[in-house]
Amino acid sequence: MKCFTKIAAAFMATALAVTPVVGSLNINTANAANGFVSYNYECDRWYFDESQMCVDITEPNEIKYLDFDASAHGNEITSNRDIAVPMLSNLIFTMNVTGDNLTEDDIKNVKFFVTANNFRNGAVDYGAEQDYNHNTYYRKRRDGSYDVYFSATAFGRKISYKAQFGKNVTLRRGSIVAKNTGYYMIDVDTPNEDLYIRVPKKSDISDAKYRYWARRLACYANSLSKTTNVEREKIYLSFDDDNIMGTSACWQWICDRTKNPTYYKNCACTFDGALTEGVLNEIRRGDNSIEWVELHEISHAYSRGELFLENYETNDELYTNIRGLTAIQNCNNIVNMDIHLDALCGKYNTIFSSKLTDNSIIIDTMVQRFINVADTENNWFVLEDFFYPTSTYGPNTRDKVYTAFKSYTGLDFKSGSKAENLAIALYALYKRAWNGGSRVNSDRYIEFLNQYFPKEDLVAYIKCCHGFPNDII
Ligand SMILES: [Zn+2]
Repeated sequence: MKCFTKIAAAFMATALAVTPVVGSLNINTANAANGFVSYNYECDRWYFDESQMCVDITEPNEIKYLDFDASAHGNEITSNRDIAVPMLSNLIFTMNVTGDNLTEDDIKNVKFFVTANNFRNGAVDYGAEQDYNHNTYYRKRRDGSYDVYFSATAFGRKISYKAQFGKNVTLRRGSIVAKNTGYYMIDVDTPNEDLYIRVPKKSDISDAKYRYWARRLACYANSLSKTTNVEREKIYLSFDDDNIMGTSACWQWICDRTKNPTYYKNCACTFDGALTEGVLNEIRRGDNSIEWVELHEISHAYSRGELFLENYETNDELYTNIRGLTAIQNCNNIVNMDIHLDALCGKYNTIFSSKLTDNSIIIDTMVQRFINVADTENNWFVLEDFFYPTSTYGPNTRDKVYTAFKSYTGLDFKSGSKAENLAIALYALYKRAWNGGSRVNSDRYIEFLNQYFPKEDLVAYIKCCHGFPNDII
């Protein structure tokens, strides 16, 4: 439906060339009503009305040594009430436990759970529970008791907690500290995708610069949503965050328990201190550039289109980058941003180009090869349609495509493998870029691959990113 409207729009732009049309003729009726999203027919891009983005900056106080208010039930304690905390608070839970002949194994088996509830407009609309056991650390005191620590980020405005112990462990006291001094909490409320951001407050960065940056991230998230037809509603970004699992940046689903215990809709992106420094430098500059790392993590959140996965699923580290670049290209608010990637700085269509000569990072090489199809053919619908598929391919087409792809790559991959999805993904690009027709023309498909995707890149990518040798016979 989207591409239909866009093609119609392109004709209209020709007819109305003297009058720039920045459209109220939006395809999404829900958004057309408030005019938040419109379509710019001159340049074939979304435009978001930033005056409808409400950016709220607060500077929360630290909660100091709030004592546990909990009830014991056997070997479990649960909090008696919800505790109000600023959204995205960095929480440290400390429990002093004692018992007869305590061992370190007893301490390691202490479990701690935090549930966050997000209150908005007076109603509970979201809840998340996480097992924070992975963050355990502990310290033995001189009296033989142990202090056990857990940390968590509050993806909500109220939290409750629960702890489980072994039989010979007794809780003597517990406390909660929220480490929020020196941080800004930035809420960006838009008619579609909302952002909640926790970021260090720096005296040499003005509020205006924080707002400018937050609005651009919101434009980006909303463009991702429009480009993929995936709605996340809430994206959480937590910078300078200790609650990160062994990497410098990560993302995770947040469970919406009001709908279903396994309904994962919202998404949280967390960044450690080292990455946060680079992001702060960009905000401080306040110019037209932005760090790729935050855009990369946000883009992961828009990976779950059902038809997309069914057709093209391969390795999301590849698609996440292409999806993000496509969303930037597709959004008039941010299309001219410069992107910082490692030591490089450039526009969306060139930023990965230097990677073409560096095959050590085959995913990055592949990213630019996808981008080159759209850019060289001067047809970004190729990628916009790719991330918004409306149909799938039948078994006859698939068989022919697989056979052609196998002959081109020289790989004999397994039935049901991700290499099959890659073959279909590249076929979808070929069809759109070269007007491939309804029947599979294997020679032209291979000619297309030959032009844009060198055989050695495809082989290297499949071997490195599809769990080789699982994919290949
Ligand atoms: Zn990633």
